[in-house]
Amino acid sequence: MTGRVYKSTGSWYTVKTDLGETYDCRIKGKFRIQGIKSTNPIAVGDVVDFELETTNNETTGIINNIQDRRNYIVRKSVNLSKQTHIIAANIDQVFLMITIDNPPTFTSFIDRFLVTAEAYSIKTILLFNKVDTYDEDTLNEVKYLAHVYRKIGYECIGVSAKTGKNVDKVKSLMHQKISMFSGHSGVGKSTLINVIEPELNLKTKEISSQHMQGQHTTTFAEMFDLSFDAKIIDTPGIKGFGVVDMDPEEVGDYFPEIFALKQDCKFNNCLHLKEPKCAVKKALDNDEIAFSRYRSYLQILEGDDTYYRTENYDK
Ligand code: GDP
Ligand code: ZN
Repeated sequence: MTGRVYKSTGSWYTVKTDLGETYDCRIKGKFRIQGIKSTNPIAVGDVVDFELETTNNETTGIINNIQDRRNYIVRKSVNLSKQTHIIAANIDQVFLMITIDNPPTFTSFIDRFLVTAEAYSIKTILLFNKVDTYDEDTLNEVKYLAHVYRKIGYECIGVSAKTGKNVDKVKSLMHQKISMFSGHSGVGKSTLINVIEPELNLKTKEISSQHMQGQHTTTFAEMFDLSFDAKIIDTPGIKGFGVVDMDPEEVGDYFPEIFALKQDCKFNNCLHLKEPKCAVKKALDNDEIAFSRYRSYLQILEGDDTYYRTENYDK
């Protein structure tokens, strides 16, 4: 049988088949998957193959295969083993919720988020929430940011979880997909999800299966089916995707507008800092690249010694 993992406690997995049947499953034997050293072999969102086993009139599943993941997000373990914990797999899209104020979301945060999402191959859609509260200046800021991010390929939607503005648009994008919602605390994630699916109260979800009872599930992600053929992954207590370790040369690859110009730079290892004949710096001077994006690019490069390496280039 084949199904998708909706929940995990580390030893038991709730797996749902296409027919909507749910089984409590375990792993037999050891798994080594795609070279990832992780504390958990299977994560929410994984598609697994399993066999049923009945002992003492109780039927459970034995997972014997994990199907290839399209993507996955990780969190580094706090212990010294430096192993990673896979939070979730096979995510179709993340809605990054942004507010201009109350709380403010800075472009440095947005860009770091997008870089990480690009590195994980996860599509991001930007939702500018609380548009009902904004004055003209703030709305102009939303428009400007939406322009900046649309230009480089990100879908942007102004929404209000309070008035319901554009919530239908969000719902139609969620149709037949696995979605996550991210953003600073207070931007309106719970409020929006509650408007999207009033029946789903993520904070008071019950622990139904007997194998899950008494287990600490709070740090684990969980997937939910919504009433309009959509899935949502809730990741309680997990903020953002953590940091991806990147080589300096790699950072620009996750800025779509920098990546697009890369081959036009004189040096093929150009970091777009002070190198001569740099196509990215030229585009920046011509206002074809937003300064806030370039600043974020520099911030992400910073903290790495190799940042200074380009001082060696002659002007
Ligand atoms: P979360 O931390 O991202 O889950 O944010 P919440 O959903 O808890 O929302 C934080 C606060 O913002 C609450 O007081 C909400 O009522 C309020 N809020 C959320 N969305 C909107 C919105 O679109 N408009 C207005 N005016 N308030 C909102
Ligand atoms: Zn360059």
